[in-house]
Amino acid sequence: MYSARVAVRNPTPGSQTSLREANRARLIETLKAHGHLTQVELAGMTGLSPATVSNIVRELTAAGVLQTRYTSRSGRRATEVRLARQAGLVAGVHISARSMRIAVADVGGTVVSEHSVPLGHDHRYDAELDRVALMLADMLDSLDAQPSDLLSVGLGLPSAVDVATGRVATPGVLPGWEGVSVADRLSRRLGTPVRVDAEANLGAIGEARLGASRGVATFAYVRVGETISAGLMLEGAVFRGSGGKAGQLGHVTLDEKGPICVCGSRGCLDAVAGGRALIANFPEDAGVHRVRDVLLRAGRGDTTARRAIADAGRAVGIALAGLVNLLDPSLVVVGGELAAADELLVAPMRHAMARAALPGVEAAPDIVVSRLGGRAELLGAVASAVSALPLQSASAS
Ligand SMILES: [Zn+2]
Repeated sequence: MYSARVAVRNPTPGSQTSLREANRARLIETLKAHGHLTQVELAGMTGLSPATVSNIVRELTAAGVLQTRYTSRSGRRATEVRLARQAGLVAGVHISARSMRIAVADVGGTVVSEHSVPLGHDHRYDAELDRVALMLADMLDSLDAQPSDLLSVGLGLPSAVDVATGRVATPGVLPGWEGVSVADRLSRRLGTPVRVDAEANLGAIGEARLGASRGVATFAYVRVGETISAGLMLEGAVFRGSGGKAGQLGHVTLDEKGPICVCGSRGCLDAVAGGRALIANFPEDAGVHRVRDVLLRAGRGDTTARRAIADAGRAVGIALAGLVNLLDPSLVVVGGELAAADELLVAPMRHAMARAALPGVEAAPDIVVSRLGGRAELLGAVASAVSALPLQSASAS
């Protein structure tokens, strides 16, 4: 994405100046993706010569864009390079069906402060965006930073999102958030640009950068929990479809005679195996209000809870087989609240998917549980905020 932007900015492609600028941009982009690296690692990852890396690092350090420090790697002295803190801060926000997580990070994407709070059942954009603004102000204050230090915010919502307009892209799924440009509203409250995306897309980005699918070009990130959805990473880029509705695995019809779904359709995967369906297995006075309650019961050996989770896994596996037949991913990463059930969820999922997926010469794609402990979307939101930063710093000197 950055190389494209650099190309547009360069009036004379191929000139010495544009080449130098492109090299600087590549180096900064690599640091944004990895936080901090030694000069040797930077040379390896950018493909630039060690001498070029050393020159650029010297220039950009003098310009206050980069910071260096000496360190020791395997007994050898090395120069570690990172983006300078005074370059500002970014924030990632993950609003899911029943909880909210916020992280403040430096422009290299390293998280420096993180908080989470539970959310009520029918949360609305106005109250929650106020809360985001308040929490962010507190977090910046505790870091001794000013509101103006916040340069960019990435926000994930539990719904399909039209990234171009920053609006919820499909009715019924997230009623309190429909019809408004969530990106504009939060941007006005914070005085900083906000990029909104579907939570599963951000989860896929988080997993690709730091999680189970590092280095995997084509994979699906499937969120199973209060709601069900997927983020599709195809050949290294998130696929959002024409209007942001790609990856809505939860609204694939599984049972035409099944229960009516929040989207107005009948027998969607979400209506059969999502949070509401899981909770409906228990009597109203049983104190089971969230997916977390079902997980706790399963952990104590409750047979109803364990069966409900296994059935959800099986249902997701059937829907996944369709996705695998269409997109042929090499890996499926499972996240969301129910991922904590691990093999109780994933074993029946694997079995159901293998039964229904088109047999190939290769085995069916592996299904693994996210290793980011529920933070995949948050880290993806931070990465989204970092990648939205303008490149001014690259031409600071
Ligand atoms: Zn539906």
